[in-house]
Amino acid sequence: MIGQGDIALGFSPQQRQRLAEIGLDDAALADTFDSAEERDARYEGNHRELSQANVDRLDSLRTERRRPVLRTVESVLVAALVADGFVEVATPLMMSKGALAKMGIGEVHPLWRQVYWVDTDRCLRPMLAPNLYYLLSHLQRLWPPPVSIFEVGPCFRKESKGSNHLSEFTMLNLVEFEPSGDPADRLRMLADVAMRPLGLQYKIVETDSGVYGATFDVEVRGIEVASGVVGPHPLDEQWGVNGPWAGWGFGLERLAMMQTGGSRIHPVGRSLVYLDGARLNVQGTRPGSHPVAEE
Ligand code: ATP
Ligand code: MG
Repeated sequence: MIGQGDIALGFSPQQRQRLAEIGLDDAALADTFDSAEERDARYEGNHRELSQANVDRLDSLRTERRRPVLRTVESVLVAALVADGFVEVATPLMMSKGALAKMGIGEVHPLWRQVYWVDTDRCLRPMLAPNLYYLLSHLQRLWPPPVSIFEVGPCFRKESKGSNHLSEFTMLNLVEFEPSGDPADRLRMLADVAMRPLGLQYKIVETDSGVYGATFDVEVRGIEVASGVVGPHPLDEQWGVNGPWAGWGFGLERLAMMQTGGSRIHPVGRSLVYLDGARLNVQGTRPGSHPVAEE
């Protein structure tokens, strides 16, 4: 029986927020109840179970000598790429306005509004591609083809969107210059090099990007985890790069979220309130531990 005018009774906003923080999935969050007593009892039960699950996950970092999933995703991808002949590079986090301009990102570009500026000429990099382009412009004449490089590291974008976006995230950008064979085939193969060791089912869909135009996305459960492009591309000329190539940019937090089966990205990202997907303000089992404040 549903009470008063048959309006479905769900969790209160505070209950919903707390249960979401500690990992209740969207379907369960939308549950409805016949009475406030039933709802509150469900809240208590869910809260107890999920708090314990968070405590257990935190404990397992020590007992199983585990690294956070974001880090293991990175290690797995790095190992797979190095085994495939890729060379890892590390470039600066601060990027010049000129480098963005060479990607076609100027004041009227939608991505411009998402850039964090450090001073008038430098920003925190919103992407890795400009730096990889720059390195390629040298390596294309130093190394015989194929020239295969990748970088993994932080990128920064002002984001207002919900549960799949962070303002600091980790990108893995790989590019193979002058692959043997068709670059579009190689692009597909490289998606597999990265995705297979993670054990995630994925599909590749054709789409469109504000920077490159026609692109491909790798999707897991309908969520974009990577975007890829094949060259030659009109932007290459700016960088003095001349030849076919295939490249992917993977979002490692998105992959980590998929690996943990979660539907929110914040718990697996860089955080002070979560560690490896587990909320820190939960009640621990250490004797004498103090109750925690719920934020
Ligand atoms: P979206 O359309 O989901 O906003 P995007 O197409 O703007 O992403 P790309 O520029 O293609 O993103 O970046 C490559 C990958 O980096 C994305 O496929 C995604 O996995 C990841 N990524 C991009 N922006 C973010 C973000 N703000 N937070 C977390 N991951 C991100
Ligand atoms: Mg994309």
